[in-house]
Amino acid sequence: MTAQSGPLWIASENPTTAGTLAWVKLDTAADYERQATEAVESFKRWRSIPAPARGLVVRAIGDAFRTHKHDLGELVSLEVGKIRSEGQGEIQEIVDIADFAVGLSRQLPGLTLPSERAGHRLIEQWLPLGVVGVISAFNFPAAVWAWNACLAAVAGDVTLWKPSLLAPLTAIACNRIADEVATSMGHPGVFRLIIGTDTEVGESMIADKRLPLISATGSCRMGKRVGAVVAQRLGRSLLELGGNNACIVHKDADLDLTLPAIVFGAVGTAGQRCTTTRRLIIHESIADTFVQRLTKAYQSLESRIGDPLKDGTLIGPLVNAKAVEQFEHAVAQAKAQGAQILAGGSRAERSDIRGHFVRPTLIKAPASNTLPIALEETFAPILYVFTYRELDEAIAMQNSVDQGLSSSVFTESVRVSERFLHPDGSGSDCGIANVNCGTSGAEIGGAFGGEKETGGGRESGSDSWKAYMRRQTCTINFSGKLELAQGIRFE
Ligand code: NAD
Repeated sequence: MTAQSGPLWIASENPTTAGTLAWVKLDTAADYERQATEAVESFKRWRSIPAPARGLVVRAIGDAFRTHKHDLGELVSLEVGKIRSEGQGEIQEIVDIADFAVGLSRQLPGLTLPSERAGHRLIEQWLPLGVVGVISAFNFPAAVWAWNACLAAVAGDVTLWKPSLLAPLTAIACNRIADEVATSMGHPGVFRLIIGTDTEVGESMIADKRLPLISATGSCRMGKRVGAVVAQRLGRSLLELGGNNACIVHKDADLDLTLPAIVFGAVGTAGQRCTTTRRLIIHESIADTFVQRLTKAYQSLESRIGDPLKDGTLIGPLVNAKAVEQFEHAVAQAKAQGAQILAGGSRAERSDIRGHFVRPTLIKAPASNTLPIALEETFAPILYVFTYRELDEAIAMQNSVDQGLSSSVFTESVRVSERFLHPDGSGSDCGIANVNCGTSGAEIGGAFGGEKETGGGRESGSDSWKAYMRRQTCTINFSGKLELAQGIRFE
């Protein structure tokens, strides 16, 4: 960050080269104030547009992202180091959620309930909420904004987006596309962007009573701060925070299917997904053979580390130098706590790569299964291996962390999978629980989010739209006389 004669500027760094992509001027608290004031006015106009007509705007935005998918995907790769197909996938997620929101715009439902009073109608209707503050993490620099912005737009809300300072260029490009499309259709100001520091812009946003909802994605540390400030003003927060996700591999699992699912879950996006598989909990009877196969797979990945935009690359860089330090710290802690490094464990140093690269790392926990560092989320490709004898022991290990985002079990047995998904809630304690597929790579159709320190928020599909609207219960008396509920007489 630098002050070049006046306003602060930040460099958007390319993690692949550690070079600067561009300098971005930061907004100030005064810029925030102007944006928030204007956003309230934009909301008053936008909420009066019928929901299906709002859907037409989102449909056009989805089409624009279809057109620009290739270029935007490359920008994601350049700015945060995702490999090409994952960068493209991120933009595809915008297209998908836009499609979902368009459908929703014609079916935002209400409810009619039977009234206990004759000649009365009892209904619930859903109304636009207001200006939604969206705070996004670096690792999904586009899709998570779109999950919020598309649903909020059909709901009748205006979004004010504060992206991560590690990915400002992606934010500028995405917001500009959405804003230009909406403006060309007569609706300026529905999609807004503010790029600034957490202390100046972030804190202004979360304390602002004009924003009834703050939707924040990022670390548990950030969520605790945002949740507390928003709660202090009795606002709503939608928190999508860190994960420490585990795969349980039962003794009857199809290991040919399990192996690639775990490798992708653990090293995809260089371990920088909230849903990354961080812990493998494997039945002791198959642990040795499976871990040998896994170690081989990890060794073979070494040659696939590199420039995320090059064909054949499977593992790009970590986002910055600090992330590499955190990776090294976790590996050192694991060693000090008695774990064994089976693969990786250090920076990736090759003459043809210069940025923030580390080797995918497989770490075997001590026989006691005690490894405190594994209880923390380190945003890097580190997979810790634990073993178990009884399924209940594995489920307890999986649930023993502070976060509750994603989980999965690999098994051919319906008893095991039903135990894991038990309807009494005694199985996985996560917001996402999968069978025979990994912890990462959710579709937009389901509600996405997690429990415990993951924050409890739900975004994307299913009924997540409810977070962006306010519910109103209405009793309409057409009986011609006044009758009180519960048979109360007041004469
Ligand atoms: P981070 O917490 O460092 O930053 C996230 C965002 O919060 C950034 O935009 C940052 O500027 C903002 N922020 C931080 N302090 C703030 C404050 N006081 N007021 C307002 N805004 C503030 O997280 P990160 O390093 O960008 O992302 C990685 C983390 O995000 C991981 O923990 C990961 O698990 C989590 N994540 C969760 C999900 C999910 O859906 N659950 C998705 C992606 C990432």
